[in-house]
Amino acid sequence: MQTTLMIYDGITSADSDVPRTGGVPLAPAGFTWPLCGSCCGEPLQFFAHLPVEDGVLSVFVCQNDPGACENWDAYSGANRVYLFPREELQPVAVPETGLTLLPVTSAIRTQVVTPDLEEHDDDDDVVPDPYDLARSGWKLEPGDRFGKQREVLGSLGGSPSYLEDDRVPACPSCTGTMDFAAHLEEGISAQTAMNLGGQLGYVFVCRACRQGAFLTD
Ligand SMILES: [Zn+2]
Ligand SMILES: [Zn+2]
Repeated sequence: MQTTLMIYDGITSADSDVPRTGGVPLAPAGFTWPLCGSCCGEPLQFFAHLPVEDGVLSVFVCQNDPGACENWDAYSGANRVYLFPREELQPVAVPETGLTLLPVTSAIRTQVVTPDLEEHDDDDDVVPDPYDLARSGWKLEPGDRFGKQREVLGSLGGSPSYLEDDRVPACPSCTGTMDFAAHLEEGISAQTAMNLGGQLGYVFVCRACRQGAFLTD
């Protein structure tokens, strides 16, 4: 049971093509920055640039009015996920209004981990969650209660952690069930963090339609 964790890997440049949170989106020519359909019509904030097998996932979430805006909901219009083709991406012009950028651009490295299920205390019939095990075990030394979980910025692929089936979004184009693509965690410090309301973020994708979706638990 392998999990591909995304690990904080220091600061990088704002238009880097490495996996990252923050910085400026790279998008095809003609791309227009998404606006919030829930609270205010202001531009969404750019969260993450995630190269994957069949392109680049580009994640935006509204931060203009976190109290009122339903940015946790996949259908609210307050967040947006794109699956761009890998080629000919270029930095996008940043809108002049709204909370559009994170303060810091953080590089991500991926690390495949295989948690040791034998060590898991399974006297209570609960099936262990692969992502939860991988994250909580990150850099966990013998005798420690906690590892370095703040270094974990999420994971790629696998299955959604503790998500109710009825929250898995339907593709807006073909109405099919979307595939899980990534978890997103807030980040290593207040300065670098994406604001997910203290929740875990989920990225879904319909590869056939090249549509994405985002929600938090
Ligand atoms: Zn909003
Ligand atoms: Zn679809």
